[in-house]
Amino acid sequence: MDVLVIGAGVGGLAIAHVLLAGGHRVRVYEQAPERRTGGKALLVWSNGNAILDDLGLSLADVGARIDRIDALTSTGRLRTTMDLAHAAARYGFPTRAVPRRHLLDRLAAGLPDGVVRHGMACRDVRQDADGVTATFADGSTATGDVLVGADGHHSVVRRRLWGEGTVRPATFGTWQGLSPIDIEITDTTRHLMISGPEGACGLMPAGDGLLQWWFDVRWSPADPRPAAPLAELRRRFGHWRSPVSDVLAAAEEEDLEFFGHHWNKVPAVWGAGRITLAGDAAHTMPPTLGQGANQTLEDAWVLGRALAGEGDPAARLRAYERARYPHISLVSRLARRNPANWRTPPMLARLIPETVQTRMLARFSNRLTTATG
Ligand SMILES: Cc1cc2nc3c(=O)[nH]c(=O)nc-3n(C[C@H](O)[C@H](O)[C@H](O)COP(=O)(O)OP(=O)(O)OC[C@H]3O[C@@H](n4cnc5c(N)ncnc54)[C@H](O)[C@@H]3O)c2cc1C
Repeated sequence: MDVLVIGAGVGGLAIAHVLLAGGHRVRVYEQAPERRTGGKALLVWSNGNAILDDLGLSLADVGARIDRIDALTSTGRLRTTMDLAHAAARYGFPTRAVPRRHLLDRLAAGLPDGVVRHGMACRDVRQDADGVTATFADGSTATGDVLVGADGHHSVVRRRLWGEGTVRPATFGTWQGLSPIDIEITDTTRHLMISGPEGACGLMPAGDGLLQWWFDVRWSPADPRPAAPLAELRRRFGHWRSPVSDVLAAAEEEDLEFFGHHWNKVPAVWGAGRITLAGDAAHTMPPTLGQGANQTLEDAWVLGRALAGEGDPAARLRAYERARYPHISLVSRLARRNPANWRTPPMLARLIPETVQTRMLARFSNRLTTATG
């Protein structure tokens, strides 16, 4: 088939790999003039790494392996631990924290020249019984057999399918930084999630002496931006136990980026006819579970399998959406619950088994479910 993909983020690039390997013709249209090189670190879990391995890609030499997540109170008491080394042993793939540019570089590197076309902002998509047409900002058009909107949170393709107003602000926003902060956790395989009445803080090593750190605070789009965000974070979280106070002391204003959280209810059918969606275009969610990019890789993997079959293109796209729905709707609903609200008392939280994430990852994943039966 001749497949048009809108957007060359994690989703669009992964889809190009999967579909080219399946013998399809693929063209990916990206609005940015060139590949993105910035961005903070992402957690790529066992499910995401398993899919990258299927694509012949590996993150083993970048970022940092994460073997456990400790959830703490703001006074430093351990609530619970998640043993990710257990999931790595079970599935054969670890969890890694990697700066986004490494993931995008790996995904882009293996693609033939000409597959990704930069500087092409899609303005509209249309279809008829014979095919699809995308129209771009420069007035040019492209036609194909099917079209995948992998154009992220503000997706033009989703708005064409679902109308306006389906993605709504969620209750929190994240201030985050990725910087060389030399504290003990930076050289470990341990990720900390700390929560208290003021919000939540996450700290994880991201390789090369870098620490990914973030603070989740209550947020609404109507809130004014603080004039001095770092001073505001220090005022709010500066009294939390070390290492939070150490990170805030070492952080610099220019390290900070803000993201307001957004969420959409994922419908059981998210495309129509010869058009479908993938990644954040279909399922924007708060970064609470760190699964957004992993679920986007899951989309690419399942789409590849669906388009490998015989039959009507529209029926195959609906089969893809059906296969993804039970997993993505669970992840999306859970991701709405911010860690700042996970304030189970340590006595109770310690009853949660350390290996709970191994089971949850299979429930989140088409890839791991298939692999483990
Ligand atoms: C603060 C934060 C932390 C996160 N942490 C994690 C994490 O730890 N683990 C994880 O798995 N996920 C995480 N995520 C989520 C993850 O970033 C997204 O789920 C993932 O990037 C989605 O990939 P995508 O390809 O669907 O969209 P994107 O990465 O947004 O890519 C969409 C692409 O489409 C292009 N585009 C948009 N509109 C058009 C158009 N009209 N025409 C052409 N091109 C267009 C954009 O320029 C972009 O390149 C986090 C997100 C945030 C905000």
